Amino acid sequence: GARSDRAHRYRVYDDEMLEGVKERMDLHNDLHRVIKNNELALLYQPKIEISTGRIVSAEALVRWNHPTKGLISPDRFVFLAEETGLILDIGDWCISEACRQLADWQQQDVGPVRIAVNLSPRQFTDRSLPHRLQALINHHQLQGSVLELEVTESTLLDDTDRAIKMMQQICSMDVHFAMDDFGTGYASFDYLKRYPFSTLKIDRSFIMHMCSSEREGSIVQSMIEMGHQLGLVVVAEGVEEQEQADSLKAMGCDFIQGFLYSRPVSAQELQKLLVEQPFSIER
Ligand code: C2E
Ligand code: MG
Ligand code: MG
Ligand code: MG
Repeated sequence: GARSDRAHRYRVYDDEMLEGVKERMDLHNDLHRVIKNNELALLYQPKIEISTGRIVSAEALVRWNHPTKGLISPDRFVFLAEETGLILDIGDWCISEACRQLADWQQQDVGPVRIAVNLSPRQFTDRSLPHRLQALINHHQLQGSVLELEVTESTLLDDTDRAIKMMQQICSMDVHFAMDDFGTGYASFDYLKRYPFSTLKIDRSFIMHMCSSEREGSIVQSMIEMGHQLGLVVVAEGVEEQEQADSLKAMGCDFIQGFLYSRPVSAQELQKLLVEQPFSIER
């Protein structure tokens, strides 16, 4: 009857919860050796410049190549790493791998390309970040401008003044900042007002319905216009349909990133795309 159904349902829910906790603990234990065992990898998702149809930049997205569980996405382990502080090592690895790859492409004359790396909150509390970035840039003989850092509101929550100072320090190395997932936080405008961003990335959740809902289309249009008023480059995230790309072009958006053009791919595959430049925005 209804009663045993309910009991059953709770039990299933409990089991799922237990599974969740167990997975967390397993991953948590395994996470300590990711760097040592060389289990991290960066994938790159191209951003297409709407005015030219060219790929001139890409976002680096980390993956954990787990020996038994396969490829694990950042949504499943970055928060764990954030809790334990391991994100500092993982973050370092990501930035340094991106720099190494950029130097490699520079030597092979592939590009030009700019790589954006995601920063998590803990990394932003690390005072040595600007210094270590500069050291990497020097070591790989890069220009700061080939690197971009993507941050979300939660990255900047803690100590505003210190965060602004650190961003300014990094900006003076010609490394630029993008505000990621724009529109999903509770103080997006406040952040744009206070922090030295040069790029605004409109979150996928707004792009998803921009063609089916007039209201959401208007919101996207307004975000693009506001971004431009503030002198920012505007990127649309999560573009999956041609119709969205067409509208974004008509709205004057600068860059498109999404499965419509490419999923995140290996460095080798990105290199091929950089050379072939197979995309055009026109239908
Ligand atoms: P994000 O920075 O907003 O990255 C965009 C995410 O959207 C990526 O997921 C990307 O694969 C996905 N995406 C791109 N285009 C589409 C599309 O057209 N449709 C759909 N459905 N999804 C799309 P991913 O790689 O799983 O990364 C998830 C999040 O994990 C990232 O969100 C970022 O916040 C975080 N992350 C990724 N790499 C790193 C890293 O190296 N360090 C840190 N701290 N966080 C990272
Ligand atoms: Mg990002
Ligand atoms: Mg995003
Ligand atoms: Mg995100």
